Amino acid sequence: MKSIELNNEKVSIGKIVCVGRNYVAHAEELGNEVPEFPIIFLKPASVLIGQGEKIIHPSYSNDMQHEVELVLAIGETVKDADDKAAADSIAGYAVGLDMTLRDIQSELKRKGHPWTLAKVFDTSAAVSEFVSKENYELTGNEKIMLSVNGEPRQNSTLNKMIFSPVDIVKYISGKMTLEKGDLIFTGTPEGVGKVSRGDRIKAEIENIGILTVDVI
Ligand code: MG
Repeated sequence: MKSIELNNEKVSIGKIVCVGRNYVAHAEELGNEVPEFPIIFLKPASVLIGQGEKIIHPSYSNDMQHEVELVLAIGETVKDADDKAAADSIAGYAVGLDMTLRDIQSELKRKGHPWTLAKVFDTSAAVSEFVSKENYELTGNEKIMLSVNGEPRQNSTLNKMIFSPVDIVKYISGKMTLEKGDLIFTGTPEGVGKVSRGDRIKAEIENIGILTVDVI
């Protein structure tokens, strides 16, 4: 896709910053400690797809897993943000998928290597259309859900996040400048699981959007 529509404006996608282990129950289901600071990794814009596109299952993994996440769109340059600057820099929200090769990730973790090849492959990130913050103020009570072929897999609420959207923007902007068109994937709740070719994934955040994609 390479660009998103935000407030009726076409915006080029910059970097995609992702947060790992941002829900306690998900950190625990993978046997990880609950983190003291957000765990950060990046995906390039070239891997991102939108509604109607397909996730291509890599041949070199036997365990591609779904992770449904709230996605933030950054609307202005922000560095070393305080609470207000962080809140002001968030321009919109979408529901997204952070596709993960869990078998590759386990191998990389065991060797102490970066997660890159478990998280970065073509079609490894997907987003719905964006809702402008001017049109919708997040309450935290929104449900975040994912089903595969109609079977419920993930079901939580956004207020179960360990680090809030403002916390996350503050933290990331203290390490790297965030710019208009950057996207932030804010982590997934518990219930992650394997998908296979032929599966249909439906990801949804109440009042934000629905994203349906097929795996091929
Ligand atoms: Mg994730």
